[in-house]
Amino acid sequence: MKIKTLLAGVAAGALMVSLAACSSGSGGGSSTDSAGGGGDGGLIGVAMPTKSSERWIQDGDAVKKQLEDAGYTVDLQYAEDDIPTQVSQIENMITKGAEALIIASIDGTTLTSVLQEAADNDIPVIAYDRLIRDTENVDYYASFDNYKVGVQQANSVLNGLGLVDLEGKATDGAPAGPFNIELFAGSPDDNNATFFWEGAMDTLKPYIDKGTLVVKSGQTDFEQAATLRWDGETAQKRMENLLTSTYSDGSKVNAVLSPYDGISRGIISALTDAGYTVGAEWPIISGQDAELDSVKAIESGEQYATIFKDTRNLAKVASDMATALLQGNTPETNNTTDYDNGVKVVPSYLLESQIVVKDNINDVLVKSGYWTEDEIKG
Ligand code: BGC
Repeated sequence: MKIKTLLAGVAAGALMVSLAACSSGSGGGSSTDSAGGGGDGGLIGVAMPTKSSERWIQDGDAVKKQLEDAGYTVDLQYAEDDIPTQVSQIENMITKGAEALIIASIDGTTLTSVLQEAADNDIPVIAYDRLIRDTENVDYYASFDNYKVGVQQANSVLNGLGLVDLEGKATDGAPAGPFNIELFAGSPDDNNATFFWEGAMDTLKPYIDKGTLVVKSGQTDFEQAATLRWDGETAQKRMENLLTSTYSDGSKVNAVLSPYDGISRGIISALTDAGYTVGAEWPIISGQDAELDSVKAIESGEQYATIFKDTRNLAKVASDMATALLQGNTPETNNTTDYDNGVKVVPSYLLESQIVVKDNINDVLVKSGYWTEDEIKG
């Protein structure tokens, strides 16, 4: 572990604070959020992928708040899904004297040289939600149990079709099908996408093998299902193509495995444009992140389910890791086996996620204070 000794850290911290105070707060990227605030604990750089998805805004805000409450100054940057922008934002954080970096990468394989710079400056790095790959210069990983998220996504689809309960237990007298299903995966450069896919496919496979589920397009490979940058429009186009190529014979798609709410919204648009209407043979669609528009879509029946990952808890884990490191302590981990980044197994703390369907929106999202009833109904 490359961490300054406490004394050097304190001295550097004092210097960084003065540097941060002099800085006008810009990271030089396309979307500067903020730098400043906080107390005298030193500067921590927080690099987030994009503001185009609500969850990352919540993540960024929550990490910033936690660190500022702990007395640190935060440089929070968003890169609008542009890899060179993210690299230069991180370079800027290093130049400004960041003492630790928390990074949710866009492409987990493109940060090798900037992280070498971080290592050369003894700056510890925490991979936030997405594993950073192909480098030894990532110290800890804070995320969810991503394989399990995939299992939950598949179970939510099976539940919508009446085949299992939300824990995945087979329903008595379950329908025999066959149900037509189409499969979507996340961005191939995001390590999480493969974990979600594997969890989901391991769960769906027995039903596909039995013939209860039929992937009518035949597109069952990750590469065929993947959606670069998790982009909703890309997913919409693929769904439009699938409807034209595979369902022009009058057959209907009964379910769509979707790994993220933004992708689900693209799928919903394609279905609506093709004449599907909610209530009449509308398919079961999964999701992830409990984004507000998608929670509304679950209320209205357009989307069947989403997976709730409480970004407030993730922010707390990542912030605690950073502050522990800066105080010379060892961060807490609960998984030291599953997240091999190609160079080493990165010690991880994995949080639990929950399936949300219409019936438990109130219990899971409103009671926890994640969304208010007014926001959902509004
Ligand atoms: C995150 C998901 C998110 C997706 C798209 C993944 O890395 O784990 O929560 O839906 O990126 O932003």
